[in-house]
Amino acid sequence: MRIDLHAHTTMSDGTDSPRQLVHAAKAANLDVVAIVDHDSTRGWDEAADAALETGVSLVRGTEVSAKYQGISVHLLSYLHDPLAPVLVQQNGRVRDARVNRARTIVSLIEQDYPITWDDVLAQTEEGTTIGRPHIADALVAAGSIGTRSQAFAEILFPGSPYYVPHYAPDAIDAIAAIREAGGVAVFAHPGANARGRVVPDHVIGEMLEAGLQGLEVFHRDNPLEQRERLLTLANSHDLLITGSSDYHGDGKPNRLGENTTDPAVFAAIEELGVTSVVRS
Ligand code: AMP
Ligand code: FE
Ligand code: FE
Ligand code: ZN
Repeated sequence: MRIDLHAHTTMSDGTDSPRQLVHAAKAANLDVVAIVDHDSTRGWDEAADAALETGVSLVRGTEVSAKYQGISVHLLSYLHDPLAPVLVQQNGRVRDARVNRARTIVSLIEQDYPITWDDVLAQTEEGTTIGRPHIADALVAAGSIGTRSQAFAEILFPGSPYYVPHYAPDAIDAIAAIREAGGVAVFAHPGANARGRVVPDHVIGEMLEAGLQGLEVFHRDNPLEQRERLLTLANSHDLLITGSSDYHGDGKPNRLGENTTDPAVFAAIEELGVTSVVRS
């Protein structure tokens, strides 16, 4: 079984629609794929239809934006109840904050580059969780820069004069919310130190006490020494260990199935979550 538990669609910053994602998973010879758009469950229904069409099994989830003392923390919530008020409210608050933040970033960028807020909206669809990738795409469409990755490296990186953060819940509260909603909480790319600071072991310890159940160890943004550190932590606390691509379609070089998760870990996640895996 080939299992990839981290992929994005046009409901956040991926470039495949939810249906296209599941068909791409089929083409990549995956047996299982997870849809985990940022702060949203809006792609779930379309992806579920496509899972039945293709025979690919679908794990429905969300990548929850959170923070620990100013450090960005992404939490994968798998198989939670999509109607649980605690997460619906938290995700809604983050999505609203993301709109205001993106507008602020654009108001700074438009002083130096030929893009407007409408150009950014043109890179999104109805219901998309907006983020810096859509601003990057608008800059690419305007011919100001070559690729989304270049826009991050040169214009949108944290510390840039155009960078503005957005509200995100505290990681400990976010884990509690995921668990209250019946989700399985896995820390996404916990060693991704090229994106910014990462949290130390004692914070992961606090997160475990709050209900964290797993670590996404095998992810291209976790360097080798971080993987070793994370494996040691996971093994000493009996945590779920996952591996995933973090596929964003054409938005990132990450390819479906470039990292995969052990079938026994997938089985444990299925057992722990309150929402069923979609399979034909
Ligand atoms: P935001 O959530 O709006 O702050 O934007 C962060 C998102 O941008 C992440 O979820 C990544 O998917 C994406 N991202 C971060 N760094 C890069 C990069 N260097 N190239 C392309 N996409 C990136
Ligand atoms: Fe993303
Ligand atoms: Fe992430
Ligand atoms: Zn992701």
